[in-house]
Formats: sequence, C-alpha cells, structure tokens
Amino acid sequence: MVSSLGKGISAAALGALLQARGYKVRLRKLDPYLNVDPGTMNPNQHGEVFVTDDGAETDLDLGHYERFTGVNATKHDNITAGKIYQQVISNERKGIYLGKTVQVIPHVTNAIIENMLNLVSKEDFLIVEVGGTVGDIESLPFLESIRQLRNTLSNKRTLFIHCTLIPYLSVTDELKTKPTQHSVKELREIGIQPDILICRCEKSISLEDKKKISLFCNLNKKNIIQALNVNSIYEIPSLFFKQKLDDRVLECLRISNSKLPNLKNWINIIEKQKSLNKSINVGIVGKYIELKDAYKSLVEALIHSGIAKSTKININWIDASDLVKLKKKILNLNGIIVPGGFGTRAIQGKMYSIKYARENHIPFLGICFGMQLAVIDIAKNLLKIKNASSSEFNKNKSKNVIGLLTEWFKDGKSQKRDKNFDYGGTMRLGTYSCKIKKKSMAYKIYLKNVVRERHRHRYEMNIKYERAFQEVGLEISGKSPDGKLPEIIELKNHPWFLGVQFHPELLSRPLNPHPIFNSFIKACIKNK
Ligand code: GLN
Repeated sequence: MVSSLGKGISAAALGALLQARGYKVRLRKLDPYLNVDPGTMNPNQHGEVFVTDDGAETDLDLGHYERFTGVNATKHDNITAGKIYQQVISNERKGIYLGKTVQVIPHVTNAIIENMLNLVSKEDFLIVEVGGTVGDIESLPFLESIRQLRNTLSNKRTLFIHCTLIPYLSVTDELKTKPTQHSVKELREIGIQPDILICRCEKSISLEDKKKISLFCNLNKKNIIQALNVNSIYEIPSLFFKQKLDDRVLECLRISNSKLPNLKNWINIIEKQKSLNKSINVGIVGKYIELKDAYKSLVEALIHSGIAKSTKININWIDASDLVKLKKKILNLNGIIVPGGFGTRAIQGKMYSIKYARENHIPFLGICFGMQLAVIDIAKNLLKIKNASSSEFNKNKSKNVIGLLTEWFKDGKSQKRDKNFDYGGTMRLGTYSCKIKKKSMAYKIYLKNVVRERHRHRYEMNIKYERAFQEVGLEISGKSPDGKLPEIIELKNHPWFLGVQFHPELLSRPLNPHPIFNSFIKACIKNK
C-alpha cells in the first residue's frame, strides 16, 4: 500500500514462525524496478546492497530473510523486472519464441512464474515478497503472475497476504481503515483477494474496526493481524505468534498441525534485549548516512553483538563529508567504524577518523573501503609514502598501496576483469576463504585457521608492501588461500585496530552474532 511498511520483515518473521513449527522455508523477493540488480544503485536511495554467498548483489530484504531464518539466500532469491526482461529479450533474440509476438502476458508473466519456482523442491513453504505498491504500473506483471499462479496451483497451495497501513489521526483520536479498504479494492480489481491482512498501526485495532475491515475487504476478521510498532524487530515473530498468524496460514492452506512452534530462542533474545545493563557510543563514519538503511546489516550486526554482551549500542552517525562537524562528533566515542564505500567523495573525513582512532587508541574497525583507507593512512603516516593512494581514485600507479584487481580465483577457476568491464556485477563478489595467521588478534577472535566471508569490492591491498608494513607494526593476519590477497590487517601497539576486506556484517545473525563484532564491542566496553 505504501513503502516502508515492513513487508520484508513481516515475510521474514512469518518464515521464522513456520520454521519454528518444524517447516523448511525459503524466502524470495520480486522487485519491479528495471535495474538487473541493485548493485549499481545509490545506497542513499535504495539502501544497502546485500551480497549472497554465490555473489549476487541483492535487495536488503534478503538480509532480513537470512537474519530471521538462518537460511542463506542465493542469486535465485531476488527477481527483478530488469532480470526478467533481460531473459525474455535474450530468448527473443535466440528465436526461442518461434516467431510469436512477445508480450507481457504470457511471456513476461511466465518468466516471472518460472523464476519464482526455480529450484524450490525441498522446501515446505516458499514465501515470496512482492516489492512495490499496489497500483504501480511496474508491479502489474508481478501481481498478474501471482494471480495466475493461484489459478494454476489452487487456493490449497497458495495464499495471499497483503500488508497495509491503518493510519492514526491524533486530532480525532481514531484509526482510519479507509486506505486499507481502498487498497484491497484495487487488488481485487486485478483479481487478487487477500486471505490475510497484516495491518501496520500505531494503536490497537478495535473489534469494531476489525469488523469493518472484514466486511469491506471480504475476509474473516481473525485473519486481520495487527503489526504494532515495536522496539525491536526481533519481537515480531512472537508478536505474530500471539495473534496466531502461523495458525491462520496453515488453516487457509488446510494443513493440520497441532505442534506448537518453539520460540524459545526469539523470546530469549527479546528478554536479553530488555535487560541490557551497559551502553557504548559507536561512531559510524560514512557518506550515505541520510538513509540509515544504507548500513542495515552493519547496524543489525552491532545490535546482535550488543545483545550478546548485554550492551546497548548508541550509534553516532557521522557524515564523512562534513569535516568541521566530524571533528567535534568524533570526540567521546568508545569505538569507530569506517564501513564499506565507493569513490573519492568524503575520503578526507574517513581518513581523519582512522588517524584519530589510531593515534588515540580508540577501537577501530575498517570494513572493506574502511580497511583500504586504513592501509593508505598507515602508508602515508607510518611508512611515509607521501602520496600513498588507491587506483580507485589515483591513476599514478607507483604510489598505490591499493590496486585494481583484475584476476583472482573462485572455486579453482581464474576470474578475469579489466578496466573496461561492465560496471554491474563485476566486482569480487560472494564468499571466499581466508586463512588466518596463528598468534594474531584475528585468530583469537575466530579461533579458526580458515574462515569464509562475503566480499564486494574491485580493489585490493597490494601484498608487495607486506614486509614494509610489518616493520611499522601492521600485520596482515588473514590472506586468501593462495597468499596473494590480504584479507585482514591489524595494528600492533593498539588495543583494537582491525581492517577486513570482506563484510562480516552480512553473516551476523541475532541467534549467532559475528565474532568480529563481539570482540569489537568488548573492546569498546573496555574503552569506556
Ligand atoms: N570501493 C572499494 C572497492 O571497490 C571498496 C568497496 C566496498 O567497500 N564494498 O574495492
């Protein structure tokens, strides 16, 4: 009905709930925009790009799916209109449609349905989130596809859940159900009758209002689930459970199952989250801070480890492009993070923060771009390479401690890129192994010789400087298995200074927080 209602989190929470009843689930997202994937979109507009193990750049909702269900997503789980049209047009060029006129129905809709059902056979439930809002021109082929799918599979095997907003008017102190009625009416016009409504609301929906919604929207009032604002998204599985969302879903699909879900883990998290007894201030220095969703997984990872360490994390958002304000804001932090990023803008602020953390012994975590800039800072200030830089923003190769990666290995096969490659989908993407050096802080954190982490970058630290860096106290404590690509750096003579070429935040789960964030937060607590 409107965006930002929490469709993704609702879908993920339903997944968690069904999983807690013993079912195997998979979640997928349909995105009606024409980009092939969100990899080339500005994070300030679209939010974070979530990277899967198999190297797909996907919508951030896939991050919610993974965090709530623990099921790792794949490249098949994010289906964009761009991807669908690319497939259809490529089929047309190959002559696959045998001279027919290629049309939205059936060619585009068939492609959507095929992609939706592709490679799902072992799951009990496939939960597909349709992005966009009812009434968008772009969403129509997707809505038409789910309508057709119900027609083919019957209402015993398909179920429609519609997320709506019930606004609260403070002047008259009432909830308004009309917008929900309208949006359901619009859905019915295109042949979709929702079975269940999840209604976002600020206040509880009265029985009277439920009756009204039930009457106008043509569904049983017990199938109206209210989604009240909550303090933590991890309360949502239990919130839905209390309203029997899982029962309603099974009932609509005529599945009898008397086994109650085991929500112990989720309840445990909520209780822990309510009794945090410490707090720390962590600064995130970035240039996409207008939209907090741009660093979604990072924020969640900090929350997960905060829960594990009974600590409330106060995030201080620091705009790297405003150096004057940054210099003030950076004082009094217990820890500093410079997250992933691209391009030249706002580098100065990030470099300042890194130097500040390094010189003032403040726990510092540099992620991807943050690690690369830390390498540049140390090269400039400790190795005294005056113009040390990265080939991302300096074409004078000789001083670049970070270089463009044109070849690397994935699953034993060499991957080649050159500067003229397409921009989208051509970085080092997805999960790679990293060998950890014994007797390092990284080893103390992971307690493993080899770890697997997710990547998304074009540039790499140049290994040829390893010796020189060692002499000034910077150790490369994690490397690719062939020893060529630095993956983790750490500074000696500093309480906690770590840079990682990968994105550990993508693997953190509320039920299984990431060891790097656990350790970082422990260091921040010590630095209070
Ligand atoms: N811009 C850098 C690169 O492409 C870092 C990317 C990132 O931080 N994800 O290598």
